[in-house]
Amino acid sequence: MRMTLSEILVATGAVGDVGERGNPVIESVRIDSRSVAAGSLFVCIPGTRLDGHNFAAEAMAKGAAAILADRPLAGLPAGTPVLLVRDTVAALGKLARSWRERVGAKLVAVSGSAGKTTVKELTASILGKVGPTAKNYKNFNNKIGLPLSMLEAGEADLTWVMELGISAPGEMDPLAAIAEPDVAVIHNVGPAHLEALGDVAGVAVEKTKLFKALRPGGTALASMDYPELWAAAKAVCPGVLGLSTKGGSAPYRAKYLGAISEGRGRFFLKLRDLEMEVTTPLTGGHFAENILAAAAAAQILGATEEHISSGLATAVMPEQRFFCRRHGNYTLIDDTYNANPLSMRRAIAAAAESAQGKPLVLVLGEMREMGSHAEAEHAKLGGEAAASGAKAVFYHGAHADVVAAGLSRQGYAGVFAVVDTPDAFLETLATTGLSSGVFLFKGSRSMHMEEYLAALTQSI
Ligand code: ATP
Ligand code: MG
Repeated sequence: MRMTLSEILVATGAVGDVGERGNPVIESVRIDSRSVAAGSLFVCIPGTRLDGHNFAAEAMAKGAAAILADRPLAGLPAGTPVLLVRDTVAALGKLARSWRERVGAKLVAVSGSAGKTTVKELTASILGKVGPTAKNYKNFNNKIGLPLSMLEAGEADLTWVMELGISAPGEMDPLAAIAEPDVAVIHNVGPAHLEALGDVAGVAVEKTKLFKALRPGGTALASMDYPELWAAAKAVCPGVLGLSTKGGSAPYRAKYLGAISEGRGRFFLKLRDLEMEVTTPLTGGHFAENILAAAAAAQILGATEEHISSGLATAVMPEQRFFCRRHGNYTLIDDTYNANPLSMRRAIAAAAESAQGKPLVLVLGEMREMGSHAEAEHAKLGGEAAASGAKAVFYHGAHADVVAAGLSRQGYAGVFAVVDTPDAFLETLATTGLSSGVFLFKGSRSMHMEEYLAALTQSI
């Protein structure tokens, strides 16, 4: 971003004056004093553990040009420009919107229960072929991360691709109001964050509130493959356009055609009248909906067949999202970034499909934030693991007994072991004699299943 302090004052509705240091041009906004660059605006965010207001002096010492705070602060150098607002998080959102107005950027908003970051990367890669494009930094997708990401966009970035993440009712409206998308896409819904959102229909209702914030003339896209999502989308936005990976009458369709090499897949796309085949660094049928969402959104903003084809072919995928590689006799699938029942089920099915006769080994961690659904969802997980034909299932975390019961209900005859450390995993694996095959590693973020993958990689 690039705005003068007095413009920021107006944009945020702050009181205060720009100080005795003139009216500096601000080119970055920071909330972490450790990352303050010379000339940044430091926004004090009261967090649950730490209060940013306590770091304002440190930010100034590091060269910040001004402070945005919700109270007057002591201990700042004389003449420090302090902009006062009632709510610094809300002010951050207003500032991001104002920056967007100035740039005049078109914005694609991506939501969905599993794969937002993947869709965001794919969409940005395609639109990057059309012209300069900005996207969220990593996974910065909440009411703080979204505006910070928008403020990172440069003046020349005329397209912004932003993922929006929610985990509780009431979160989508304020987030969507910051984004005001030109194109909004929801490519799936599943049992994620059920602790707060209740059930899949509740997830769909909350997510589709995104469509209410569309700019005039904007386009809503939603998957027709998820009945709860499609019903909620239609209710909010009758003109919503359908995406489907199951054929039917949707104007936008996709199909997985298989892997062409380790970690590279081929997909068929039908984007209204345009039919094409693409390759991209993703394998597995579950990614068809991500690729479709990205291609459809990008096409609506002017991407041609060539842009779509080269954007998907050259996309760089974020790490730990079903990343397949060969290591000796092993195919290791690193899907350790996160897990919910939807992404878990899809990952197991895709790993099983890719095994093609080779032994399949599942190294799974607990799915967190499931509230009262935890037992039922872990029982289902056991059933899905059994149905996958896995030779061994290693499990780390709570609800192991329920997973075991789910496995045995399906007549599972393979190895099942609870392994609460990477060492325990290696020791038990050694006793099974399984020294080749396809190994899937996946669990909720806090289960750190990447440590299990690293332990195996180091041992072979
Ligand atoms: P977060 O809510 O943490 O921001 P996200 O929605 O951005 O997550 P990603 O980070 O892209 O999603 O992927 C999260 C996990 O979901 C990864 O393990 C990834 O492999 C898996 N995943 C991605 N797309 C799909 C899909 N369409 N179906 C099922 N699982 C998916
Ligand atoms: Mg994400």
